[in-house]
Amino acid sequence: MSLEHVLCGLHIDTGTTTTCTECDRELTECDPVTIRLHQNKQDTRWHLAACYCLGCAPTSFEELPPTLGTQLLCEGRIGITQDDQTQQTWPILVSPTIIETTRRTHVTYHATQEVPE
Ligand SMILES: [Zn+2]
Repeated sequence: MSLEHVLCGLHIDTGTTTTCTECDRELTECDPVTIRLHQNKQDTRWHLAACYCLGCAPTSFEELPPTLGTQLLCEGRIGITQDDQTQQTWPILVSPTIIETTRRTHVTYHATQEVPE
């Protein structure tokens, strides 16, 4: 399974909108977003670290403070999902494209290369 596949449908927030981590702009269905995720050692799950609007989206980890573990920058759009039984809605990530990751090699590389599983 590709990493994009894993990230597609990622639960971003609750409700019908989320906000940009940087400027607090409200983001809703179909809005383009860039998300930052991190994964700790011995952890198989990605944790959402930040969600940016187009204007605030970092293009590389060099713009961000260093953190432990593996980092991932990914762009996509927001989709809204609803659970028909509970009537709850939440924004998810759709059409994810990986921009940059520090996975495995701890050397940055771009999405045109295959991400090894
Ligand atoms: Zn923003």
